[in-house]
Amino acid sequence: MSLTIALSKGRILKDTLPLLAEAGIELLEDPEKSRKLIFPTTHPEVRIIILRATDVPTFVQQGAADIGVAGKDVLVEHGAEGLYELVDLRIATCRLMTAGKVGAVHPGRRLRVATKFVNIAKRWYAEQGEQVELIKLYGSMELAPIMDLADLIVDVVDTGKTLKENGLEPRDLIMPVSSRLVVNKTAMKLKQARIQPLVDQLQAAVVRRQASHVHA
Ligand code: AMP
Repeated sequence: MSLTIALSKGRILKDTLPLLAEAGIELLEDPEKSRKLIFPTTHPEVRIIILRATDVPTFVQQGAADIGVAGKDVLVEHGAEGLYELVDLRIATCRLMTAGKVGAVHPGRRLRVATKFVNIAKRWYAEQGEQVELIKLYGSMELAPIMDLADLIVDVVDTGKTLKENGLEPRDLIMPVSSRLVVNKTAMKLKQARIQPLVDQLQAAVVRRQASHVHA
């Protein structure tokens, strides 16, 4: 019974590989140094595919991958029908926040908010009772307030360095973010004998890691 695991390059790949290694799954080649998109592992029936982070939920929902690792931000933005979110891997942690120009005050008209997280932003501002005009961007959100395209942005913040270096400051926390293990609902039924032990091993690896951090 073969298993396909969808990951994205960067933080998620770097932080997920050690967890998978603890579950006995290791890559035979470094994907960061390759242009390939499908990678065999030390486990003959497990392969890893490399996608854009925002495409991981789509592949898992449609069953093109059985399992995936995606940030909570991406999962909430995308919607999570057709998949189970089974483990908080506690990796690639950051915060989804609003941010604006340092010292800028409310312009006294409808706010313009630039983000790639339009669904999350729409819902969050509605909850705040704030009428906003959303501007969809695909990257370099920090430029929007500086170039006066928007008053605020909604983006993920880790150290806050990127905001600071661009004359912006964090404002409101929308949600804390970490990466989650997601599983296709049908695969979970059909391949449970293969998937459940992997889920359990990954959960155990996360718990061990948390315990060693607490005692460190
Ligand atoms: P920072 O450490 O706040 O300067 O983060 C730099 C940039 O890295 C942010 O603007 C995000 O685009 C990106 N980033 C930071 N943490 C994450 C994460 N966990 N997942 C995805 N992107 C992130």
